[in-house]
Amino acid sequence: MIRFESATKRYPDGTTAVDALDLEVPAGRVTVLVGPSGCGKTTSLRMVNRMVEPTAGRVLVDGRDVMAQDPARLRLGIGYVIQQAGLFPHRTVVDNVATVPRLLGRSRRDARRRALEVLERVGLPGAYADRYPVQLSGGQQQRVGVARALAADPPVLLMDEPFSAVDPVVRGQLQQELLRLQGELGKTIVFVTHDIDEAVVLGDLVAVFREGGHLAQVDTPQRLLES
Ligand code: ADP
Ligand code: ADP
Repeated sequence: MIRFESATKRYPDGTTAVDALDLEVPAGRVTVLVGPSGCGKTTSLRMVNRMVEPTAGRVLVDGRDVMAQDPARLRLGIGYVIQQAGLFPHRTVVDNVATVPRLLGRSRRDARRRALEVLERVGLPGAYADRYPVQLSGGQQQRVGVARALAADPPVLLMDEPFSAVDPVVRGQLQQELLRLQGELGKTIVFVTHDIDEAVVLGDLVAVFREGGHLAQVDTPQRLLES
């Protein structure tokens, strides 16, 4: 579904952030990229939606080189969730999510209906719809971020430390909800974290990065714990 083929990113200042990454991300599963800060996880993730362009090698989504695809079109099929949900502060919860179906040409009414539907899925019932982001807890804001990423029903979801800024109890809840959602929707998820415990909880497959943008190991969580 997603394949990195010797994918390499060297930034203009000479930093090699990702060094010849070979990784196959299976469809319909959660693949976690884990490792200490600065080892190239975010850069790898962003090569999937072309926010970062490889300087060598390539990244394929559904067998097609991302560099051969129109970025806007590519991103319609790839939801993206980051640590601080990145919500529009002056728009209500439902309008934050409805932005996506509106961009896809749905009527205002249809877009709202779709937004309410995905918000419900991530555990935010209608009562929250007309609040503003600042009126929500950190965990609830992340739920809105996930809802927005799901609004276009993309087959792929990229998640970059989405739960790192919330407290441990809520974090555990969000992890369990993500697993439930994954069971229901069967998305292909690539999830970045520096927390090995989170990687083991969430991953069907765990890719361990080390300094210098190298991939050290790829395995199931079970085998990783045994090794
Ligand atoms: P980010 O890259 O998202 O800013 P960092 O990787 O810098 O996050 O990590 C934030 C903090 O977590 C740092 O103080 C780092 O030392 C610490 N940290 C790194 N690895 C782990 C780990 N495996 N488990 C828990 N904390 C970790
Ligand atoms: P991680 O997500 O594992 O913390 P990153 O992919 O963010 O790692 O960064 C990998 C390396 O690339 C780090 O050394 C980081 O400082 C560097 N880096 C990231 N973004 C840039 C950039 N825009 N310009 C130069 N260096 C960068």
